Amino acid sequence: MSDASQRLIFENADVRGEIVQLDEVLAAICEHHAYPPAVARLLGEAAAAAALMCATIRSDGVLSLQVEGGEEAAVSMLLVQIDAADGTLRGTARYRGEPGRGGLAELCAGGRLAITIEPEEGQRYQGVVGLDEGGLAATLEGYFRDSEQLPTRLHLACDGRRAGGLLLQRLPASGGTRPTEDDPDAWDRIGYLAETLTDRELLERPAHEVLHRLFHQETVRVFEPRTLAFQCRCSAGRIASILRGLGREEVEQVLAEEGVVEVRCQFCGATYRYDRVDVAQVLSDSSAAPGSDRYH
Ligand SMILES: [Zn+2]
Repeated sequence: MSDASQRLIFENADVRGEIVQLDEVLAAICEHHAYPPAVARLLGEAAAAAALMCATIRSDGVLSLQVEGGEEAAVSMLLVQIDAADGTLRGTARYRGEPGRGGLAELCAGGRLAITIEPEEGQRYQGVVGLDEGGLAATLEGYFRDSEQLPTRLHLACDGRRAGGLLLQRLPASGGTRPTEDDPDAWDRIGYLAETLTDRELLERPAHEVLHRLFHQETVRVFEPRTLAFQCRCSAGRIASILRGLGREEVEQVLAEEGVVEVRCQFCGATYRYDRVDVAQVLSDSSAAPGSDRYH
C-alpha cells in the first residue's frame, strides 16, 4: 500500500473529506526506536491525523501535533510534523517503562495536545486542548468543534505497521449559492455511512475501495492522491543553532566530561558529533556550518 492522502468533496452538500493511509512513513518514523506497540500505534494515529489536518489548512507551512503527557504519564511527549508544501512527515515519542495497552488519554494521562501551524509567511498559530477519553480522534473532533466551529468526524486507526485516517468536515453553508437546503440530511447521512468503516478496512483496503464501499450512493468528487513521505528536517546548521541555544557553559561542560559533544536527532536517528575544534567553531560563529561528521 502506498503512503498518500486524498481529498474528496461531497457535491452540493458543503461537506469535505480526506482519507490518508501511511505505510512506509510509519516504518521510517519507528525505524530507529524500539517503540512499545502502544506507543507506535499512538504515533501512527498522530501521523495520520497530522496528514488529515494538514489537508484542511490553506497555507504552506509546517503543522505539528504535540502531546505533553502529565507527570505520571507513560508517554511524556509525542510529536509529529508535516510540511504542507511537500507532504513530508516526521515524528518521535518519549516514554518511560513499558507502556501497556491504552489510548491517548491513558498513555498521556493528564496531558494536553498542542496543534501548531507555522506558515511560510505570517503569524504562527497554536491551539491547545485537553485530552478526550475517547482518544486522539475524539480530542481533535473537540478541537474543531470548539476552536474552529466546524463539525468534524475523524476515524483514526493504526496497527503498529500501518496507519489510516478519514476526516469528514461540514463546511459553513455557502450562503445560498449551493442548494444545501435541498439536502439537509447530508451531514448526518454521510456520518452514518462513515461509522460503518472498520479499522481493518481502513488499514488494509486501497483508499478508492474504501471510499467506494462507504459513499457509492453519494455524489462525491475524489481528487488525485497526494504522495506522502518521511523526511527529516535536521541538518548540521540546525543542530549547531540548538547547541548555541544551550549556551557555552553547558556545551563546554559536556565536552570536558565526554571529550566530544554528540547530538542524536530524535526524528531520524542521525548523529552529529562535535569535537573540541567543532565546538569552538559553532560557539564562535553564528553563521558558518560546523565541520562535523554526520552518519546514520
Ligand atoms: Zn533528523
